[in-house]
Amino acid sequence: MLHRSLAIPPAPPARRVIVLVLDGLRADLVGDPRFPNLLALQRASAHTTEAITVLPSVTAAAMTSLLSGVAPADHGIATDRFRVPEARRQLQTIPHLVTAAGLPSVGVLQQVPWLIRPLAKRIVAALGLSTTHFAPPSAHAILQAARPAIRTQHDGFIIVHWPDCDAIGHRTGWMSPAYLAAVDRMDDALGLLRWELEACRDDTLLIALADHGGGGRVATHHDSAHPLDCTIPIFLEGAGVLPQRLPDGLSILDVPATVLWALGIARPARYAGRPITEAFTAPALPAIHVASVMPAMAEISVRASSAA
Ligand SMILES: [Zn+2]
Repeated sequence: MLHRSLAIPPAPPARRVIVLVLDGLRADLVGDPRFPNLLALQRASAHTTEAITVLPSVTAAAMTSLLSGVAPADHGIATDRFRVPEARRQLQTIPHLVTAAGLPSVGVLQQVPWLIRPLAKRIVAALGLSTTHFAPPSAHAILQAARPAIRTQHDGFIIVHWPDCDAIGHRTGWMSPAYLAAVDRMDDALGLLRWELEACRDDTLLIALADHGGGGRVATHHDSAHPLDCTIPIFLEGAGVLPQRLPDGLSILDVPATVLWALGIARPARYAGRPITEAFTAPALPAIHVASVMPAMAEISVRASSAA
């Protein structure tokens, strides 16, 4: 049992929210000293390594949930193939809502093969991103493409997707030496991104998360309900966040709710998650602090009265 203030904090002073998707990063690598920037982010953030993604735990379903606030059964993308969401689903995506609030929304994603570029453009248009930049498929190249937006767009929403771990995981297996080398490259880019955000921590909220893990049931995949596939880390840093370990039971669906809350935008009733407000309040004190002190105090008072 945790003692936690029931008061909901006011929305934090976030002028912009940057969502960083670390595709296929296993939650159990967070805290590993081989990845010092992930470790530094963990220490400086409100974080959990016990959150869950949607089922199926695949990128197309998870990214659509991340941008639309609803589970795959509601947005209709329930495989690892991206496609234009059906109009009848009437998704109220974060980019649409951010744009309606008069704010910009930018996506920085990996370039796709030229044959499917027209489809990719239709998908990002349907999701409502006002601008999308495409870059070669590496964290450093995508960070490079994101720098102009990070440096000049000081409000609204920016989503950045780093594909490195997932791509290598499918080829050589999650936790293989090549996979760990990809984590290392992503960790390095993460250090550069956090350095870039150093001067604007007061009003920029960074939410970094994985969309899924991997190597659960099959070494080179991540689409099962196995905990190693479904468990994800979520980190929140900046804009009033108090570093702490967040409670268990959070979901990727809580991230879109948090983005809207942080920007002061009303959350549609159909959004499945809820804002992670705990990140902005003082860390909870475990009940054991009180329970273990009370008997000891009672014993002291008994001894004192019998000695008197
Ligand atoms: Zn994948």
